[in-house]
Amino acid sequence: MNEMKILVVEDDRSVSSLITTTLKLNQYNYISAGTGNEAISLCASHHPDLILLDLGLPDMDGIEVIRTIRTWSGAVIIIISARGEDSDMIAALDSGADDYLTKPFSIEELLARIRAAQRRMQYIRAGRAENPVFTNGDLSIDYTSRQVTLAGKEVRLTAIEYRLLTLLCANVGKVLTHS
Ligand code: CA
Repeated sequence: MNEMKILVVEDDRSVSSLITTTLKLNQYNYISAGTGNEAISLCASHHPDLILLDLGLPDMDGIEVIRTIRTWSGAVIIIISARGEDSDMIAALDSGADDYLTKPFSIEELLARIRAAQRRMQYIRAGRAENPVFTNGDLSIDYTSRQVTLAGKEVRLTAIEYRLLTLLCANVGKVLTHS
């Protein structure tokens, strides 16, 4: 079983079942949603690694879904759009989507995009593991010894402060929610 978790967001039942059947046959873990609100709530509760998102949803614009999810999630988002929605696709990419597929797409193309996303995730994870020292301006964190220094001076932090700091450092430039 593939350990990557995929969220499929598509209101068209035939397209949705084509995608989920493909994922099942290729042993991917998946959950599916048919509306934008359902997608946002599943994303918050299940933390998918990859989201396949249809832009034309019944309750809200797919772009709105991306903007909402992007306030806390770093999941790879692949948009699925119908032909002739080029401006929507550009807006979606600008809102934080990573890649796109245009309907009708082939199963092979879908699987290739998923594999490409999976490789990028592995590079990112490997990069973190190979680089145990984080620096940003005067701040430096050695993840192996859990030592934090600011302008060369050691900073003593509580366990929670340390966890908050490493979370912020893993998400430099992004807005994080309180939780
Ligand atoms: Ca649709």
